[in-house]
Amino acid sequence: MTARTLLLLPGDGIGPEAMAEVRKIIAYMNAERGAGFETDEGLVGGSAYDAHGAAISEGDMKKALAADAVLFGAVGGPKWDAVPYEVRPEAGLLRLRKDLKLFANLRPAICYPALASASSLKPELVEGLDILIVRELTGGVYFGEPKEIIDLGNGQKRGIDTQVYDTYEIERIAGVAFELARTRQNRVCSMEKRNVMKSGVLWNQVVTETHKRSYSDVQLEHMLADAGGMQLVRAPKQFDVIVTDNLFGDMLSDVAAMLTGSLGMLPSASLGAPDAKGQRKALYEPVHGSAPDIAGKGIANPIAMIASFAMCLRYSFNMVADADNLEKAIAEVLDSGIRTGDIMAEGCRKVGTAEMGDAILAAFRKLSA
Ligand code: NAD
Repeated sequence: MTARTLLLLPGDGIGPEAMAEVRKIIAYMNAERGAGFETDEGLVGGSAYDAHGAAISEGDMKKALAADAVLFGAVGGPKWDAVPYEVRPEAGLLRLRKDLKLFANLRPAICYPALASASSLKPELVEGLDILIVRELTGGVYFGEPKEIIDLGNGQKRGIDTQVYDTYEIERIAGVAFELARTRQNRVCSMEKRNVMKSGVLWNQVVTETHKRSYSDVQLEHMLADAGGMQLVRAPKQFDVIVTDNLFGDMLSDVAAMLTGSLGMLPSASLGAPDAKGQRKALYEPVHGSAPDIAGKGIANPIAMIASFAMCLRYSFNMVADADNLEKAIAEVLDSGIRTGDIMAEGCRKVGTAEMGDAILAAFRKLSA
């Protein structure tokens, strides 16, 4: 069997604590299930800056480019607030996304039944929620040129960002959304602002044409992004897959995130285009940051990191049964009333990072037997 290569980049703050729990699962899968994962490790973010003066070293970038998948923890923290902009911790993540050409960001918002009461919405609105937000990640206003602050010479300055999308960028992200919808409820909602933005008009046209050409079996709906934000908090269960641009996706996925209760629960995947063998470059990471307020205390919730590994099993290695079992293991542990502090509820038992990881591994072992 060919090896499955994984690069682990734990990063800063709670990143390494959460990654330690994934390492236990990988060790179990290798030792007892012959999974054949070959792991390597690298530094990213503040820890890379301390060691190399860069947010990620060239050597670690090479490893990332060579690996089948990258597992990323979190970066940043007050220690590095004053470092130069080009080498700030987040620059490591942006470099990985750019060099691996990860244009599709997948963020599931799943509400585990045991946590429905932790949502800011009424339990009946979120119970059983299962949405996937597909966000374009490498184009749009975060990258468009010109991007600058110019001095107008009259005591005024002007800040400029440019929203720009080409046909191929919209086609490929729409393709990912339609393909994923086919494995779910077969419905896609595309969101833009065609009423006020030219890039929104083009987005709408290209998604419509891509649908007609190759994916007419999938149900397609268009929604203005502001109305979409409203619908997400009014009746989130109406959505299956949402596809949108970089800026709107950034905001809408954060809104969807809070529907499920805690940042500590949310995984994500970023995928590139398939190569000749059909393999996509991929990076998996929790949505949360490095949580400096709780780092080093052993109390962080490792579920977002573990669920990111489950996405890795599903999308990079086609290990669907294992991914299903790992997600089921998380649900079972939550059902049994074991909780980290961020999702603690009355009558539950509060545990730390390692104990939560061990409980999920034990449930996963049983389900895999
Ligand atoms: P954060 O996600 O780190 O934390 C926000 C709040 O949620 C904190 O109170 C934290 O304790 C809590 N939290 C987050 N993850 C948790 C978990 N797994 N278990 C329990 N509680 C959890 O966001 P922030 O405080 O805005 O940012 C802190 C640092 O992280 C900053 O330097 C920021 O730039 C960076 N950041 C990095 C990423 C990333 O690496 N992808 C993402 C967001 C923020």
